[in-house]
Amino acid sequence: MSIIAVDLGGTNLKVGVVDGATVSSVQSVESHSHRGAAAALERLAGVIGGYDLTGVTGIGLALPTLIDSRNARVMVSMKGKFEGLHEIDFQQWSQSKFGRPIKIENDAHAALLGEWKHGAARGGRNVGMITLGTGIGTSIMIEGRLLRGRHSQAGNLAGHFVIDPAGFPCVCGGRGCAEAQQHLSAMSQIAAADKRFAASPLSQTKTLDYAAIFKSAESDPLAHDLRDRAIGVWGAVVTSMINQFDCEQVIVGGGIMRSADVIMPALQAAAGRACTPWGTAQIHPAALGDHAALLGMAVLLNEQFEYV
Ligand SMILES: [Zn+2]
Repeated sequence: MSIIAVDLGGTNLKVGVVDGATVSSVQSVESHSHRGAAAALERLAGVIGGYDLTGVTGIGLALPTLIDSRNARVMVSMKGKFEGLHEIDFQQWSQSKFGRPIKIENDAHAALLGEWKHGAARGGRNVGMITLGTGIGTSIMIEGRLLRGRHSQAGNLAGHFVIDPAGFPCVCGGRGCAEAQQHLSAMSQIAAADKRFAASPLSQTKTLDYAAIFKSAESDPLAHDLRDRAIGVWGAVVTSMINQFDCEQVIVGGGIMRSADVIMPALQAAAGRACTPWGTAQIHPAALGDHAALLGMAVLLNEQFEYV
């Protein structure tokens, strides 16, 4: 019994066949998110149509936005990123294209379920997941159940804990959210306003990103400060997640984890600052990389997974 799992990211669209703990025939193509939802789904249908669907019982689609998983609908389309997704009837789309049922879910929820079933959170029942990328994706499991809430947004928005009410404007419409404070547009503004910027190697990079910041952090004081500033924001999210959701462990994923040697000790220290009289929550790097969300979608399709 296998499923076709899809991780529809803002940059890449990943598709694979999931059978138990095995992910095979993975393809990754550009998702062209700026072209809107209809173009993305057409592209996706073309990729899925290239697979042999014999023995495939369903389609699982992980998406980087808030999802009403009860009704397989996207709750909000982000501006400039798959615009129009909230208008799509995914069940109808999947049945008409492939004759298969579909489940859709937020990508952080999917990654948490993948890590819980096969990766770093195996055996856990009270787990937080944080994915560090352009934004901050989060998901929470409480007593073995995925936190969803009345409006399907509980646990997904820990990246929008407000850590500076007078801070940078955020994509959510708020101000000073953790996500906004660590966003590369904020880092660019801070860097450009710093008197050390002209002498910094960061002024030579075409677009400022975390790869450049981490690369120069040991030799350049400005890069060092920006790195520590970002780690401070991520640590604040980790401490707040543990305080608010009673996590016993937090799994950290995302491309930035290539610098896990610097990030992980700082996040473990942040866990130590949480108010947890029972002990200390443990911070673990994600184990499944790009496959976590694909494996998590199989959990949702194949098991009666409980939400709260
Ligand atoms: Zn926000």
